[in-house]
Amino acid sequence: MAGNEAIKEAIKRIMQANAEKPNSGTPPPNLQTTTDAHENCSTCVHWEAGFCKLYDFRTQPDQVCDTWTPIPET
Ligand code: SF4
Repeated sequence: MAGNEAIKEAIKRIMQANAEKPNSGTPPPNLQTTTDAHENCSTCVHWEAGFCKLYDFRTQPDQVCDTWTPIPET
Protein backbone atom coordinates (compact mmCIF):
# COMPACT_ATOMS: atom_id res chain seq x y z
CA MET A 1 0.00 0.00 0.00
CA ALA A 2 2.94 2.35 0.59
CA GLY A 3 3.63 2.18 -3.13
CA ASN A 4 0.08 3.33 -3.89
CA GLU A 5 0.48 6.32 -1.60
CA ALA A 6 3.74 7.27 -3.33
CA ILE A 7 2.01 7.06 -6.71
CA LYS A 8 -0.92 9.18 -5.46
CA GLU A 9 1.52 11.79 -4.15
CA ALA A 10 3.42 11.84 -7.44
CA ILE A 11 0.18 12.32 -9.42
CA LYS A 12 -0.88 15.09 -7.02
CA ARG A 13 2.43 16.89 -7.59
CA ILE A 14 2.11 16.58 -11.38
CA MET A 15 -1.49 17.85 -11.25
CA GLN A 16 -0.42 20.84 -9.16
CA ALA A 17 2.35 21.65 -11.64
CA ASN A 18 0.01 21.22 -14.60
CA ALA A 19 -2.66 23.39 -12.93
CA GLU A 20 -0.22 26.30 -13.28
CA LYS A 21 0.50 25.70 -16.97
CA PRO A 22 -1.12 28.19 -19.32
CA ASN A 23 -3.86 27.09 -21.69
CA SER A 24 -1.62 27.98 -24.62
CA GLY A 25 -3.41 25.83 -27.17
CA THR A 26 -6.97 25.65 -28.41
CA PRO A 27 -9.89 24.26 -26.42
CA PRO A 28 -10.41 20.57 -27.21
CA PRO A 29 -13.38 20.01 -29.54
CA ASN A 30 -16.65 19.53 -27.70
CA LEU A 31 -14.92 19.37 -24.31
CA GLN A 32 -17.51 18.43 -21.73
CA THR A 33 -18.00 16.81 -18.36
CA THR A 34 -18.72 13.10 -18.45
CA THR A 35 -19.78 10.37 -16.06
CA ASP A 36 -18.32 7.74 -18.39
CA ALA A 37 -15.68 5.81 -16.41
CA HIS A 38 -14.21 4.32 -19.60
CA GLU A 39 -13.96 7.27 -22.01
CA ASN A 40 -12.61 10.32 -20.24
CA CYS A 41 -9.44 12.38 -20.20
CA SER A 42 -7.76 10.18 -17.60
CA THR A 43 -7.99 7.20 -19.96
CA CYS A 44 -6.86 9.14 -23.03
CA VAL A 45 -3.37 8.73 -24.51
CA HIS A 46 -3.03 12.53 -24.73
CA TRP A 47 -3.61 13.21 -21.02
CA GLU A 48 -0.98 13.92 -18.37
CA ALA A 49 -2.53 14.38 -14.92
CA GLY A 50 -4.61 17.49 -15.42
CA PHE A 51 -3.27 18.56 -18.79
CA CYS A 52 -4.11 17.60 -22.36
CA LYS A 53 -0.79 17.46 -24.23
CA LEU A 54 -2.49 17.39 -27.64
CA TYR A 55 -4.31 20.71 -27.21
CA ASP A 56 -2.04 22.29 -24.53
CA PHE A 57 -5.10 22.75 -22.37
CA ARG A 58 -5.91 22.00 -18.73
CA THR A 59 -8.57 19.31 -18.41
CA GLN A 60 -9.94 17.17 -15.61
CA PRO A 61 -10.36 13.39 -15.37
CA ASP A 62 -14.15 13.76 -15.54
CA GLN A 63 -14.01 15.56 -18.89
CA VAL A 64 -13.81 14.23 -22.44
CA CYS A 65 -13.61 15.65 -25.98
CA ASP A 66 -14.24 14.37 -29.51
CA THR A 67 -10.56 13.40 -29.92
CA TRP A 68 -10.52 10.89 -27.05
CA THR A 69 -7.98 8.20 -27.94
CA PRO A 70 -7.57 5.14 -25.71
CA ILE A 71 -4.20 4.36 -24.18
CA PRO A 72 -2.79 1.41 -26.15
CA GLU A 73 -2.68 -1.85 -24.25
CA THR A 74 0.83 -3.14 -23.63
S1 SF4 B 1 -10.13 13.41 -24.26
FE1 SF4 B 1 -7.93 13.31 -24.72
S2 SF4 B 1 -7.64 14.68 -26.46
FE2 SF4 B 1 -9.62 15.20 -25.51
S3 SF4 B 1 -9.19 16.82 -24.03
FE3 SF4 B 1 -9.09 14.88 -22.93
S4 SF4 B 1 -6.92 14.32 -22.99
FE4 SF4 B 1 -7.24 15.85 -24.60
